[in-house]
Amino acid sequence: MKIKVQVIVESDDGTGEVVQEIAQLERGRLRPEELGLTLAEAKGLLEGLQRTIVEQQIAEYSKQQSSCPLCCRQRMHKGAHDMVYRTVFGKLELSSPRLFHCQCQPQRTRTFSPLAELLAERTSPELLYLETKFASLVSYGMSLKLFEEVLPIGAEINASTVRNHTLAVAERLESELGGDTVRELQLYLNPQAEHLLDWFHVVRHEGC
Ligand SMILES: [Zn+2]
Repeated sequence: MKIKVQVIVESDDGTGEVVQEIAQLERGRLRPEELGLTLAEAKGLLEGLQRTIVEQQIAEYSKQQSSCPLCCRQRMHKGAHDMVYRTVFGKLELSSPRLFHCQCQPQRTRTFSPLAELLAERTSPELLYLETKFASLVSYGMSLKLFEEVLPIGAEINASTVRNHTLAVAERLESELGGDTVRELQLYLNPQAEHLLDWFHVVRHEGC
């Protein structure tokens, strides 16, 4: 049998729905390893679903940004640039438009890039959370293997990305909460985790 997976997106303004096929699966005589989805199929499905949802969200956001919210005049375009945004369910290559500010209000700059400003971190909060959580439990290399095994983003990140993100989160936590609070939090979450904060320090100082 053939199984087609489609996504239907309905817009709020009633302008119609978008139907997009994201996967086609085939199954023959029933075998235990093909009952339901394989891990590879699930990763492909999540990646396709993510891409479709994001395309529609970006299209809607771009439409909203194309006119001034105060006077409703169209904003002029000044080109676009490509940007990468990483999520748990895949690496997204997005086109980020640069727009001229409307002249109805004084502005600090002539142009702006609403999408690039909205996605300033370039990594979704959930991916950052998972990277940091895995890297606080096992080595950066092992974290990477876990990602590769179960998530569609696995092939798109490397150990140095996980390390850099983990250290950035550790530094942010320490500066916002203070080292003692972070240590207390770690001990509360995991009484065996006392070495983790020192490990952050060691890694940062040795630069490996
Ligand atoms: Zn305006």
